[in-house]
Amino acid sequence: MSELHELLADMIRVPSVNPCGCEPSAPQEGEARMTRFVADWLGARSIAHEVQPALPGRDNVIAKVPGQGGPALCFEAHMDTVAVGEMVIPPFEPRVEDGRIYGRGACDDKGSLAAMMMALARVAQGPPPPRTIILAAVVDEEYLHSGARAYLRDAGPIAGAVVGEPTSLRVVIAHKGALRTRITTRGVSAHSSNPEAGVNAIYRMAHAVVALEQLAAELRDREPHPLVGGPTLSVGTIHGGMAVNIVPELCQAMVDRRLIPGEMPDEALAEIAAALEGILAEGDDLTPTLKDWAVETTEDEEIVDLTRAAVREVTGDDEPMGVAYCTDGCDFVEAGVPLVVLGPGEIAQAHTAEEWVELSQVDTAAEIYERIMRSA
Ligand SMILES: [Zn+2]
Repeated sequence: MSELHELLADMIRVPSVNPCGCEPSAPQEGEARMTRFVADWLGARSIAHEVQPALPGRDNVIAKVPGQGGPALCFEAHMDTVAVGEMVIPPFEPRVEDGRIYGRGACDDKGSLAAMMMALARVAQGPPPPRTIILAAVVDEEYLHSGARAYLRDAGPIAGAVVGEPTSLRVVIAHKGALRTRITTRGVSAHSSNPEAGVNAIYRMAHAVVALEQLAAELRDREPHPLVGGPTLSVGTIHGGMAVNIVPELCQAMVDRRLIPGEMPDEALAEIAAALEGILAEGDDLTPTLKDWAVETTEDEEIVDLTRAAVREVTGDDEPMGVAYCTDGCDFVEAGVPLVVLGPGEIAQAHTAEEWVELSQVDTAAEIYERIMRSA
């Protein structure tokens, strides 16, 4: 196996399952071992890096190869993976077959991260690149993007970023954002033999859900974005009541609103609030749990130029495109950093029971990243 393939296999062997808001408890949970692995790998190659706290016991690794001047270019990929319970292959025992490597994270997102690390190591061995190159290996992409947020809070000036996620090596310049909101209705419990004595929280939530269905229908009539399509809204969960013979005093629902470029999370939240006006009562609430900005990088941004030029030379297919899924790119937009998303593997392979990535795509990604790093 090549050094890059060995690196990716070693990274698949290191479990880094996102505990999704809980303290890491199960043995495979948390990124701590990956953080150490990445830091040690960089250290062995004398690449300057720091371990940056993002969440308790969950740290980013930020590496830097100094350039000749000007604001830096950032290469970002995440160290966490989704859970492994549904997998039908051993998640942490990489297997190579027919040019593919199988295992949790192969495609999302260790393929991108390994390719970025290898590209950085190659650049570090040569003369200083035109720009300072930063590699940000971050935690918690699969849940709240806390790693990217922690990094961007005090990252100096960044000219542009490449976010590594499986795009089949296509240049992604636009993707949707997301607003998630919890709706809580509160009533007064009473015995169901005398419901007039209570206030039914489920009845009020039912009216709220009908209003949201109406809003979702209105969104379908809006002008779609040329690269990512139209905005959507979906009520995903609803929980309420304790027992059939008690008038429920609490009901909660979760709403997922997907944003297209140009829509701000707070505007979408205000729109939901307006749709529920006259339905929600005092004591009810609407609490956003996630605000991810949509991404749209204009084609005249330097990072788009640099990336397209590199991709053109390596694969020939540099046509910019949009995707529906969210990435850490949301946080770069919020921080005012222009970005592209590009990485090996197909998004259809991410999060699957048999996750794999084509090794030749990982090699090609490393070549593309290295070219971008060396260009200016
Ligand atoms: Zn990912």
